[in-house]
Amino acid sequence: MDRAAVVKVGAAASASVCAVVGGVALAQYIVAKKKRAGKKTRIIEMMPQFEKPTVHMRNPERVEQIICGLIKGGASKLQIITDFDMTLSKFLVNGKRCPTCHNIIDNCKLVTEECRQKLLQLRNKYYPIEIDPQLTMEEKYPFMVEWYFKSHTLLVEQRLEKDKLPEVVRESDVALREGFEQFFDRLHQHNVPVFIFSAGLGDVLEEILLQARVYHPNIKVVSNFMDFDENGVLRGFKGELIHVYNKHDGALRNTEYFKQLKENSNIILLGDSMGDLSMADGVPNVENILKIGFLNDKVEERLDKYLDSYDIVLVKDETLEVPNAILQKVL
Ligand SMILES: [Mg+2]
Repeated sequence: MDRAAVVKVGAAASASVCAVVGGVALAQYIVAKKKRAGKKTRIIEMMPQFEKPTVHMRNPERVEQIICGLIKGGASKLQIITDFDMTLSKFLVNGKRCPTCHNIIDNCKLVTEECRQKLLQLRNKYYPIEIDPQLTMEEKYPFMVEWYFKSHTLLVEQRLEKDKLPEVVRESDVALREGFEQFFDRLHQHNVPVFIFSAGLGDVLEEILLQARVYHPNIKVVSNFMDFDENGVLRGFKGELIHVYNKHDGALRNTEYFKQLKENSNIILLGDSMGDLSMADGVPNVENILKIGFLNDKVEERLDKYLDSYDIVLVKDETLEVPNAILQKVL
């Protein structure tokens, strides 16, 4: 049997084992079996993607158990809750920072140089606060609101036109993480609901997905959407502001969506900030949740905290290889 076939058979065997034995019993079984055979029996050991140096886990046994739960539930029980900027989109390309949805607008030709400078000053003031490991989320919260309010006010003053957004996105350096087609297409094929919860700009985000040809009907985007007047000129923003640190009440603000998905009790959560961890708060009926975090920046200071909170931490990993490997087992 070739290696691929061995892995396949092994995975199928592990999946059926997962289905029969649960929780602690499963862990004991796996440890005992491993000792007996000295072979790779854990699902995470069967995925070569987990051997990459970018993959960090505090508790691989727990990750194994959660993945077993996800496999047992299959497509019908799964849903994805994910952040967008620097989670689905890349942080770096060839050593150069990639833009967030906000950055795309800040740096586009529709914005005057004076406005760009003001936006940059805001970024230089508030971004260090956003990622400061010494401050709590509660302490950061008012600063994030202040940042959004000031920058959104500046954008409204620029009288941006809706029609220009596709061009602006096309000309930007935004890129989705390696493997994004496989990620979105597989989820679409299996009709797995994807909730993209972003503190970015919804209109820009949707345009990125459209241009990448992955804005499938199983995707719901909840973000800050621009409000245009009858001439298509920006006049404000719709609804309540979503920023990095108020994602915990996302489920409460979207009760109808999550009520419909109450059978989808297995969640894969993807994020890149500590605020993203709370995106599934308030989701009813959660059986298994696997939290995957991308740690893009200030790795040394933040790795410990990320490992405490995310089940899998992907350090400076610009790909979706690990989520894709897991989805391949589950779906
Ligand atoms: Mg993000």
